[in-house]
Amino acid sequence: VAEGEATCFFHPQKRAQVPCDACGRFLCALCDCEFGDQHLCPACLESGARKRHIQVLEPSRTRWDQIAWALVILPLVLCGLLLPLTSLIVLGLVVWRRSEPGSLLDNSALSLKIAAGVAAVELVASTALWVFLLTGRFT
Ligand SMILES: [Zn+2]
Ligand SMILES: [Zn+2]
Repeated sequence: VAEGEATCFFHPQKRAQVPCDACGRFLCALCDCEFGDQHLCPACLESGARKRHIQVLEPSRTRWDQIAWALVILPLVLCGLLLPLTSLIVLGLVVWRRSEPGSLLDNSALSLKIAAGVAAVELVASTALWVFLLTGRFT
């Protein structure tokens, strides 16, 4: 190993190739366990396999309320005619997430409910708009 080069956490004599995606330790080619598109050290691979959560190692939970709000707001900015579709997706999302109790933080659950309320209003308003557009065009 040349001076100044990062070395493997487990083999100080070997040059590091990649850091572990879970713990950040430097790994040599021998210690680098590729798991899907992740690089894991043997320790993390083992603990991940034990806990069966290798696929969800990222610490942040998916914020469904943020996705819902994006679907509520983006069509207003981009194309209002998409609203019947996106508001239905939001309502479906809310119903789907509600069937998994305890999976949401309290404030995001509330935020999701508000998003659902706005989506419901959008659904009614945009459906009325569509009916107006279609009947105006075809009569
Ligand atoms: Zn690791
Ligand atoms: Zn190594």
